[in-house]
Amino acid sequence: MSTKDFVEKDYYKVLGVPKDATEAEIKKAYRKLARENHPDANKGDAKAEERFKEISEANDVLGDAKRRKEYDEARALFGNGGFRPGPGGGGSFNFDLGDLFGGSAGGGGGAGGFGGGLGDVFGGLFNRGGGAGTRTQPRRGQDVESEVTLSFTEAVDGATVPLRMSSQAACKACSGTGDKNGTPRVCPTCVGTGQVSRGAGGGFSLTDPCADCKGRGLIAQDPCDVCKGSGRATSARTMQVRIPAGVSDGQRIRLRGKGAPGERGGPAGDLYVVVHVGAHPVFGRKGDNLTVTVPVTFPEAALGGEVKVPTLGGPPVTLKVPAGTPNGRTMRARGKGAARKDGTRGDLLVTIEVVVPKDLSDEAREALESYREATAGSDPRAELFQAAKGA
Ligand SMILES: [Zn+2]
Ligand SMILES: [Zn+2]
Repeated sequence: MSTKDFVEKDYYKVLGVPKDATEAEIKKAYRKLARENHPDANKGDAKAEERFKEISEANDVLGDAKRRKEYDEARALFGNGGFRPGPGGGGSFNFDLGDLFGGSAGGGGGAGGFGGGLGDVFGGLFNRGGGAGTRTQPRRGQDVESEVTLSFTEAVDGATVPLRMSSQAACKACSGTGDKNGTPRVCPTCVGTGQVSRGAGGGFSLTDPCADCKGRGLIAQDPCDVCKGSGRATSARTMQVRIPAGVSDGQRIRLRGKGAPGERGGPAGDLYVVVHVGAHPVFGRKGDNLTVTVPVTFPEAALGGEVKVPTLGGPPVTLKVPAGTPNGRTMRARGKGAARKDGTRGDLLVTIEVVVPKDLSDEAREALESYREATAGSDPRAELFQAAKGA
């Protein structure tokens, strides 16, 4: 079973319940469908058997609050991210959801991936005993997630940043076996499957990861001092990553093949970088456009004029303010915004803010008083009062 399934299969549809179905609704739908399609009631009906598997698989995920959350997140993530399965070994795409969500990664290394994230997620009801073949197949490297904080200007122009990443790998000290001498024993509780069954009423049994071996199927006889018997270690590395121009705050970038290296000739995983962008004291961002508020005097707005406007990282541009420009009007300086993917740039949106002087010289005061006399006949609130009366 692969994560591709996880992403492509609509478990809600399988159970015929809405996305916001309650636990009780899911349970009820599962019970009804499971009863109808149970192999005991449909002897020799391959279709019913297949359907029963689907239903059980859907219930394994949706019936468990934690798995359901992971499933919803995975679907939301890949649904939005233009997710396309990579060229995994043998046409299947094998990486563990546990990798993505910081959970258990497959044992990997010498131990060869006993248990592991997908087993955990799917409860393994139909995986049992089928693992031997897949353990020797190439395994795609983990997807790794990281975060980076860029300044406003770096986000607009693009930047190369050092990124420190940690990922789960097999513990070197014990070759991933979790055992000091590299000789773990098979877990007696689950007999190496990593799964245990429990009765669920109605003649059904459900499977859970084995608690004694934490789903690995192996138990260290003499636990490794380095990894405390888990067989896993955290490895850290730093790499230089080029963040393209025009990224915005909160954006998640996928860098294909920059995740953890694959195993047994499998392809490398992908690196997801969540970008945080700092604020700028003057400029703002609206998609590809930059924004700036520019103060103008009353005469500049009323009589019109040429106003110098700063740009991000370039020389100022001169903006023609037409006579009679109202306060708050936004004008456009083309091509002075953020870079786009195709190499062109967005615009700089300039918002006019008429400033009222606080301190007036005698001369300015006199001029304003004559202006008041000259405009005494016009009442700027006449329309307002007219409209207020009308309604
Ligand atoms: Zn066990
Ligand atoms: Zn170890």
